[in-house]
Amino acid sequence: MNYLIKSMKAREIIDSRGNPTLETEITLSSGLISKASVPSGASTGIFEAVELRDGGKRYLGKGVLKAVNNVTEIIQPKLINYDVREQEKIDKLLLELDGTENKSNLGGNTILSVSLACARAAAFQDNLHLFEYIDKNANLLPIPFFNIINGGKHAGNQIDFQEFMIAPIGAKSFKEALLMGIETYQILKNKLQKEYGKNAINVGDEGGFAPPMKTPEEVLDTISSAIQEAGYDNTIKLALDVASSTFYKDNSYLISGKKYTTNQLIDYYKELVGKYPIISIEDPLYEEDFDGFAALTKVLSIQILGDDLFVTNSKRLQKGIDLGAANALLWKVNQIGTVTEALDAANLAKKNGYQVMASHRSGETEDTWVADLAVGISCGQIKSGAPARGERTSKYNQLLRIEEFLGEKARFQKNFKIIK
Ligand code: PGA
Ligand code: ZN
Repeated sequence: MNYLIKSMKAREIIDSRGNPTLETEITLSSGLISKASVPSGASTGIFEAVELRDGGKRYLGKGVLKAVNNVTEIIQPKLINYDVREQEKIDKLLLELDGTENKSNLGGNTILSVSLACARAAAFQDNLHLFEYIDKNANLLPIPFFNIINGGKHAGNQIDFQEFMIAPIGAKSFKEALLMGIETYQILKNKLQKEYGKNAINVGDEGGFAPPMKTPEEVLDTISSAIQEAGYDNTIKLALDVASSTFYKDNSYLISGKKYTTNQLIDYYKELVGKYPIISIEDPLYEEDFDGFAALTKVLSIQILGDDLFVTNSKRLQKGIDLGAANALLWKVNQIGTVTEALDAANLAKKNGYQVMASHRSGETEDTWVADLAVGISCGQIKSGAPARGERTSKYNQLLRIEEFLGEKARFQKNFKIIK
């Protein structure tokens, strides 16, 4: 039998922020070797699967040798001779071995690296791309949401909102969307340098520029003029990841030095959406405010994404669905920790009319699995940072390859659905 796990090992590798992360390698009975590595967030939700770190002095506490050890000493002996095509069975065993609700025992990072390496091994043993293994009929390329200005926890500037994205929704293919995004990114770079000086073109964690701007309006005006100069006013729209939990304190939100109550913030979003072509807002409110999300979703006829709110967790998503909180799921596989649970969350979202956007993390590796999974689940949207920096472009480049591989069969998500 070619598909049986013969051995497994893990190693510490380094992520895009210069911190250690985990890579697991599985060898099958056929001799095939498959690897997968895990990303790491900065604005992590409090309900995410726990990332196991060593603590202590080494790597300032961020080492993952315990996780490495968990793969080789605890998981490997149990998974030897398992058939990698049995993803659900493997993931169930991983959950049992961990035994906690939030994966704090073995670590969400540990579990995910194994879960993904199994999926990839099964795909490669069948000579399939990972996306085909997830769904052999998958052919939908996602709209890329390029994060071209970074703020919040991802940049050393004073912008409170974390991500300002452009979405080339009018493109005819992924390849064209990438071209449109890049032209706008480069024009924005020139503009920032001209208007704000050289410091303005330094970049943040996700490759977007981190200019010394202060207000969301200042950012949105500059991006809008770059889009116009690029000639894409009708085809590129705007999106935000506010990551509002990072500036929420004592029942209020502090933006550009001004305090907002929840209702005032909702009014502010209405104003922004009225003024700019914003089609999607992620984490507009604090990660525990399901009711606030429901109120906001009612008054704004755009996509409202729950990231820290849902943490790719079906239970939290179900609560959101029941309350009408948000209308889209930000899909981060490492927030939940296994391929099976992540696929379940995506299915639950779709079944209930929620959109799904696949997402990288701010700390990334060169691994491209999120690009394949985005196509595999046919979600039609992905965010992987700016169209710059290797750990971001590796995903976009993989999508180019997938589109080329699919040839005539490839479809691009057209007519972004603005809900309502
Ligand atoms: P994170 O940011 O990876 O730092 O959590 C990404 C996001 O909030 O979407
Ligand atoms: Zn987010």
